[in-house]
Amino acid sequence: MSRQTAASHRHGEMRNLLAISDLGPDIAAGIEEVMTLTDSFVEVSERAIPKVPALRGRTVVSLFFEDSTRTRLSFETAAKRLSADTMNFSVGTSSVKKGESLRDTIETIEAMGVDAIVVRHASAGVPRQIAQWASSAVINAGDGWHEHPTQALLDCYTIREHLGDMRGRRIAIVGDIKHSRVARSNIAAFTALGADVTVVAPPTLLPPSLEGWPVKVSHDLDAILPELDVCYLLRMQRERMNEALIPSLREYTALFGLTDERADRLGDHTLIMHPGPMNRGVEIAAEVAERPNAVIIDQVRNGVAVRMAVLFLLLGSGTAWGGELDG
Ligand code: ASP
Repeated sequence: MSRQTAASHRHGEMRNLLAISDLGPDIAAGIEEVMTLTDSFVEVSERAIPKVPALRGRTVVSLFFEDSTRTRLSFETAAKRLSADTMNFSVGTSSVKKGESLRDTIETIEAMGVDAIVVRHASAGVPRQIAQWASSAVINAGDGWHEHPTQALLDCYTIREHLGDMRGRRIAIVGDIKHSRVARSNIAAFTALGADVTVVAPPTLLPPSLEGWPVKVSHDLDAILPELDVCYLLRMQRERMNEALIPSLREYTALFGLTDERADRLGDHTLIMHPGPMNRGVEIAAEVAERPNAVIIDQVRNGVAVRMAVLFLLLGSGTAWGGELDG
């Protein structure tokens, strides 16, 4: 990537990534730009020493108020591969436990001189609130039921890697749509790229209204299996349910789980995807996750390069280094 490309970056003005809509008025173009940049960072990740000086001198802090394995490690790896310094804020051992307010916490972190705050929180809207207070770039790593934009970007990249152009691809997102930030971000991203998305769930696991959602709805997974290009399974998010929305997990699996028998009815090219963490034996049979067309590990691998691209877009253009990927 040339100095000039970085300087004339179309999203030079993107300050935060809180939702897929932050990728610009033309979301498809914004996603394509992240995908192209991700190609470069996949190449970097495959080098013997997978590191470039792109964000030397920059500091990225992770502020996770909710559990995470993949997202947290992935952002940290991405920042390190770009030579940024990283700070990890553990809520459990911080003064948040003593009742320090979110605003005071952000002010304290910013006073140390950080450039980006990666935040996950159980409540929708917290990253946006932080972005209003902070002068650093804010990246939403998942807020309540709302959005998880970097998950959607890594999913787009993984689909593109295996199937090419997303236009006209038939994608089913199956499971707990109601509580899923992954579903919301993925629907925005997949449909912006021209995919045909169907949400598949029992009525109790759908939002009360789907008005304005650019999706079809089905309650019958068996009926649509053979025509799919992507079967995207969601975790049953029991931590966000405050009532019994399904009679039992066994019944859910019987109707909506991707069992061995159902996976046999998918096309050979059909991708099986899951954002993790998987409940093997509930939404996906243990062996199905190991099939050749299951790309769940590719999703995790691509997550690092996609997050490098996002960090670089938000923080890279003003560095003395100026945007060269070599050096
Ligand atoms: N890891 C994803 C998220 O943070 C999906 C999940 O937890 O089910 O939303």
